[in-house]
Amino acid sequence: MTNSERPWGYRENTHGKSPDWQLHADTASVRAGLARSGFGETGEALYLTSGFTYESAEEAVASFADETDHYLYSRFHNPTVSIFEKRLAALEGAELCVATGSGMSAMFASIACLVSQGDHVVASASMFSSCYVVLAEILPKWGVTVEFVKGSVKADWEKALSRPTKAVFIETPSNPMLEIVDIAMVSELAHKVGATVIVDNVMASPILQKPLQHGADVIMYSATKHIDGQGRVLGGAILGSADYINNHLQPFTRHTGPNLSAFNAWVLLKSLETIGMRVERMNSNAQAVAEFLSAHPKVEAVNYPGLKSHPGYAINSRQMSGGGTTMSLTLKGGQKALFAAMNKLVVIDISNNLGDSKSLITHPASTTHRRLAPEIREDLGITDSLARLSVGLEHSTDLIKDLEQALQ
Ligand SMILES: *Cc1c(COP(=O)(O)O)cnc(C)c1O
Repeated sequence: MTNSERPWGYRENTHGKSPDWQLHADTASVRAGLARSGFGETGEALYLTSGFTYESAEEAVASFADETDHYLYSRFHNPTVSIFEKRLAALEGAELCVATGSGMSAMFASIACLVSQGDHVVASASMFSSCYVVLAEILPKWGVTVEFVKGSVKADWEKALSRPTKAVFIETPSNPMLEIVDIAMVSELAHKVGATVIVDNVMASPILQKPLQHGADVIMYSATKHIDGQGRVLGGAILGSADYINNHLQPFTRHTGPNLSAFNAWVLLKSLETIGMRVERMNSNAQAVAEFLSAHPKVEAVNYPGLKSHPGYAINSRQMSGGGTTMSLTLKGGQKALFAAMNKLVVIDISNNLGDSKSLITHPASTTHRRLAPEIREDLGITDSLARLSVGLEHSTDLIKDLEQALQ
């Protein structure tokens, strides 16, 4: 193409300069992965395209043979999705990232790409219910055995990890019980029997906990939660080593198609620019709310890893920089008192999402964790009198006032 045929203002090579030092996470979350087009736009471009064109038939051949870095098809790669993946990988300190359309597609792909019939998987039982369904019902249909342990009990892990194991799946803090699993302890045991350790880091977010630094191999996210954090889009991500991503995950995801849309990637990569500030504020708000609730006479119990009374407090303080944005609680009057209080809230919304800028309260037993058998819910502590509270970006004084008037 000659210059005169180019659109007005279009130039080659406006990709910007790259620093030769390791960027701080705050900087990476604003700049990592930036790939400007020839227009030199400030805000990242949205490449809403399913396919890509080639200069020649030979270029198409070379591209499909992986001999060029040409984009092929948005089920495999898309420039906007790539910016999001690179930015999240830089923030996490992971070699590579693959973005997916939801947290559940990330969870499923992260483990399905590893296991075959006859393989053994170990998981901590306290977790988001759809993840539980994948492990307890879907994988066993395909001949994978999944053993559940109490994630906070070392002896349970030692027993389960005394034989060859393909993968270990943990969620810490867990949703909605906020159970803490010692990532370093489990990773050490798991690696001795050849297992890949996958951490669902949704509740902690990439800001408060870096599982790879504690020995885990793979991290999965629901980007719907803190990464978007503004109630707009669904998304997911899987992060790990180049070996895991290139040799296990990509061969699975390229053909099964759980990919993230370019539009949602564009929303999410802009969200990454503010995630540090948002999560830090949500975390300090949650700490203030948890302290208020735990001292309130009508509150029976508060599960929040930022409180010294939490059984996982010491381990959590080692692996997470804060108690997080979410807690669960029970009231003295049981479900009746809880529903009455929830209905009186005027700032906090009743909604089953979490990690949002708006504070949200939900009743897991009848909503998010309804799908679990009653005895499993009972075992996990998800009783009819339990509420989960996700603390947002409102001022903590308003949240406390709202809870105070609702508990009257
Ligand atoms: C929400 C959630 C998921 C699933 O994410 P989606 O984006 O809703 O598919 C997985 N794990 C945890 C801990 C979650 O809270």
